[in-house]
Amino acid sequence: MSMNWGLIGGGEGSQIGGTHRIAAALDGAFRLAAAALDIDAQRARAFAMRLGIPKDRAYGDWREMLEGEKSRPDRPTLITVATPNSSHFEITRAFLLAGFDVLCEKPLTTTVAESQEIVRIARENGRICAVNYGYSGYAMVRHARAMVARGDLGRIRVVVAEFAHGHHADAADADNPRVRWRYDPKLAGISSIVADCGIHALHLASFISGQEILSLSADFVSAVPGRELEDDALVAFRMSGDVVGRLWTSAIAVGRMHGLGIQVFGEKGGLRWQQEQPNQLYWTPVGRGTSIIERGVAGLSPEADRASRVTVGHAEGFFGAFGNIYADLAERLRARQEGREPNPLALSCPNAEDGLRSVAAVYAAAESAKSGGRWVRSATSIDL
Ligand code: NAD
Repeated sequence: MSMNWGLIGGGEGSQIGGTHRIAAALDGAFRLAAAALDIDAQRARAFAMRLGIPKDRAYGDWREMLEGEKSRPDRPTLITVATPNSSHFEITRAFLLAGFDVLCEKPLTTTVAESQEIVRIARENGRICAVNYGYSGYAMVRHARAMVARGDLGRIRVVVAEFAHGHHADAADADNPRVRWRYDPKLAGISSIVADCGIHALHLASFISGQEILSLSADFVSAVPGRELEDDALVAFRMSGDVVGRLWTSAIAVGRMHGLGIQVFGEKGGLRWQQEQPNQLYWTPVGRGTSIIERGVAGLSPEADRASRVTVGHAEGFFGAFGNIYADLAERLRARQEGREPNPLALSCPNAEDGLRSVAAVYAAAESAKSGGRWVRSATSIDL
């Protein structure tokens, strides 16, 4: 039977709300039962009802939703927070404290201290707090991680990551409300493109290599006049296991579309994955030619097989990747309800600790950029 699900943010016309609704429903595990979808109360209620939510659970505000839902016997098993960054902490914290399990959009919060608090609250209350690094749900990303973990690449030497798009390059579009909050420190935090996009690439670097980011040196630029936060950044980073990392992230790279990609270079071979062709993973063993590993072929890792829903040759993409985050959460929630251990393959889903590490890396990068590229340590230990 499907579990009740609640969504906060992700209103009509938002960038990511529709993807969450499709992804949560993909395997029939979750059913949208309650929502506070929009900053505008009337729009929030009207859209929720158009999505089929009954009037008494179509809320105009997340606080109203918390009050209305917390004592219901059929309250949501999972709450997704898909509002702009500055409200993640307050909303996630309140729902965790009320005993809900939460999937929060990235970045988990806009400060390291807030992320630490979320980790602590989730642990103390025995709640799941996942963070939506949805790209880690792609089958071939999971296969890349499995190949690294089983030693196919040998020791990893270098990871090169990019997340460079051109969608905020037009200075005339700066007042578009969907763009504006991303460059307003009050709503976005201390960083724009690194916290918005670079953070995904940094998370993937850790997710695939199995290593943590230890320190960073960054160069930030605000190329569009009037922006308080960076719209382009180059970041060098060092990871555990002596892995060297490189990141370029940008919102002004005209001609780049989504622009997320990662290369992992080990002593025995190299891997390359691009999010715009997510069904192919390029694999080059040292001294040999490059082969393309197709999603869905026989002989892939169990991690990749579990993350695929359609047979080889059919494009599988963004909805499926987010769907895998929801599938992992559904498995963990059901296992808890049934008093059994979850399938270990469901445990790679990013959690609040990953969210905290990522926010700490963004902070270190921002601090480095302010001081001319000085190397800054990222908070690696979850010190509570
Ligand atoms: P958006 O500006 O397009 O939409 C934000 C939505 O949240 C709007 O519907 C707005 O009305 C609503 N909202 C704002 N404040 C609210 C509040 N207090 N209560 C209820 N609703 C509220 O933003 P977006 O691009 O959809 O981004 C939302 C979040 O998702 C951000 O944190 C962003 O970083 C993240 N995001 C993640 C991914 C990913 O791949 N994981 C992709 C895009 C965005």
